[in-house]
Amino acid sequence: MKDIATPSRTKQILKQYGFSFKKSLGQNFLIDTNILHNIVKAAELDDMTAALEIGPGIGALTEQLARAAGKVVAIELDQRLLPILQDTLEPYSNVDVVHGDVLEVDLRALFAEKFLGYEKVSVVANLPYYVTSPILMRFLEEELPVQNIVVMIQKEVAERICAKPGGKEYGALSIIAQYFAEPEIAMIVPSSVFIPQPNVDSAVLKLAVRSKPPVEVADRQFLFKVIKSCFTQRRKTIYNNLVSSLFGKEHRELLTEILEQAEIDPIRRGETLTIAEFARLTCLIAEAGY
Ligand code: SAM
Repeated sequence: MKDIATPSRTKQILKQYGFSFKKSLGQNFLIDTNILHNIVKAAELDDMTAALEIGPGIGALTEQLARAAGKVVAIELDQRLLPILQDTLEPYSNVDVVHGDVLEVDLRALFAEKFLGYEKVSVVANLPYYVTSPILMRFLEEELPVQNIVVMIQKEVAERICAKPGGKEYGALSIIAQYFAEPEIAMIVPSSVFIPQPNVDSAVLKLAVRSKPPVEVADRQFLFKVIKSCFTQRRKTIYNNLVSSLFGKEHRELLTEILEQAEIDPIRRGETLTIAEFARLTCLIAEAGY
């Protein structure tokens, strides 16, 4: 039998089950086996590695993961897809489909229950684009035992995540993602490999999860708060942003002193600061009692 992701088999499955796509669930299925092979290769899977897939759809990527990994657990929200997956993935005994919302599932419990005995876990997905950032942030912030995250996402979001200081794409999302992982764009993908075709460009993003953050701070959440404060209004200076969103006008002088001590020019914009500078600034703000 042909692979699920071949255009003819996908069309046959969709027809057989009378499946209609739900735009609200970000349903754009992959119909190109080459792209899938590249995604699987980027995830660096082997028999001792497990894969967690988010949104298996009709199983296009799941099938390729099942061939490369020791075990695959796939979380799907759309109940209509469950009987289809049971059928299409029937030949693969190492696949476990879980019905649920990836943003709601108890991931720690799921890892403990499903991945016991596996040395490494990769998160691999063609993500529903409407929830890309919350899903990525959840996997990064919960610090689950994940070696890498390989995801198809909107190209523009992938570029923002990989952006370096100085450009207009660099923002809180870039810095927070880079705190947890080393991101790279593995591949740019044309919309012709999806059914239906999304009206945005796509890219495969690979996040190699760090074993240790690149900067040390006492309170990670406070670092993120300072970073987000500095980007409240992109065109404003860090001084103005920090006054309005963290310090208040009555503590302006204290902020001036802190920035001087941190050797950071108050007229700079958030987009020019490195993560090391944000960390230095955060430590001094925390020392001042914030
Ligand atoms: N993996 C399939 C493929 O590549 O052909 C389908 C990818 S499609 C872009 C996204 C999938 O995620 C859909 O099957 C959709 O139903 C599912 N989905 C959407 N929101 C979800 C959520 N919150 N939790 C789990 N799955 C979700």
